[in-house]
Amino acid sequence: MRLIFVGPPGAGKGTQAKVVCVKAGIVQISTGDMLRAAKVAGKLPADLVTKMAAGSLVPDDVVISLIDERTKAPDCANGFLLDGFPRTAPQAEALGKLLAARGQALDVVLALEVPADLLIERAVLRRTDKRTGQIYHLKYSPPPPGADLEHRADDLEEVVRKRVETYEAMTAELLPYYEGLGILKRVNGVGSVEEVTGRILAALGEYLAR
Ligand code: ADP
Ligand code: AMP
Repeated sequence: MRLIFVGPPGAGKGTQAKVVCVKAGIVQISTGDMLRAAKVAGKLPADLVTKMAAGSLVPDDVVISLIDERTKAPDCANGFLLDGFPRTAPQAEALGKLLAARGQALDVVLALEVPADLLIERAVLRRTDKRTGQIYHLKYSPPPPGADLEHRADDLEEVVRKRVETYEAMTAELLPYYEGLGILKRVNGVGSVEEVTGRILAALGEYLAR
């Protein structure tokens, strides 16, 4: 199964992707995680560090080449879930071309829908365990004692607002594009993590059963 999760920042893509990937036996590929790992390793150019901290997108060619390389790896043979890519029309076109060149296609694009007021609270109170990558929320999924927590530089309220605006301006336009291809499924992302997981698994049912 080749799957994309599209949704605004804080919608719950990363949280749900981890569950779906275990169920489906596929790998999660998050361009945001890859860029943050490059930053920690000191390999992300300074101008991109600045862009990310400000809530701006990094250039298309940077993320397209990350995805091109990563999806060639042997662990992607059974499928993958892209979380946070594509985010622009050129990224979506490049993805379509690179898959077509390998005789592959996308199965489903799942849009996780959450209203803007909830997104701010979800992202601002998000904390991630540096060692395990586990995603917590100070109110809704409190971290256990001893977790080595990180607060993302771009999860400050003003930056989250800008990222939501960028999503609406650049990424939301991908939904009609994938709708036109007949592979878009919209899922309501409001409710508990378990409720949303249930909706996603129901929406993906026919693919999970294959
Ligand atoms: P995204 O990857 O879309 O940016 P995350 O999966 O990191 O979003 O979730 C953002 C924050 O919201 C995290 O702190 C996460 O624990 C929390 N969260 C995710 N899903 C829910 C939910 N259904 N209800 C409440 N909080 C949630
Ligand atoms: P995320 O973890 O998906 O919220 O992404 C965090 C940040 O990484 C974004 O605000 C962008 O700066 C950058 N980023 C991640 N994925 C992309 C992408 N597909 N296109 C451009 N920038 C990206």
